Amino acid sequence: MKKVINNIGGEMINKVKIGEYIYTVEYGKNTGSGYIGYIDYEKGKIKIKNTLHYRKTIETLLHEIIHGIVDYYMLRKVIKDDYEEYFVDVMAKAIHALLKDNPELVEDIIREDNLLGK
Ligand SMILES: [Zn+2]
Repeated sequence: MKKVINNIGGEMINKVKIGEYIYTVEYGKNTGSGYIGYIDYEKGKIKIKNTLHYRKTIETLLHEIIHGIVDYYMLRKVIKDDYEEYFVDVMAKAIHALLKDNPELVEDIIREDNLLGK
């Protein structure tokens, strides 16, 4: 399910599954954190500021999703505190480029589920 986000003139995802957790994604004037994006692990919410341009909105959402991955898969065991933001930023940019440059890869990943009847 997608939701129209006015500042980017289009629709954006409003739910994202990270591991077995489903996060709701909200776009608003403030994230309540002072940052342009925020993830609340306990409430299962991601908040993105709704004044960002399109690319920044996507990058910020990916950034918060990677934080969610770090949390779900307990990657803090291998990433020191000081390096989480760096790790998350690099991975968000890398995954953004990977998916954008290889849209057929996503189709191939989804096709496996279809073959298995999921
Ligand atoms: Zn961050």
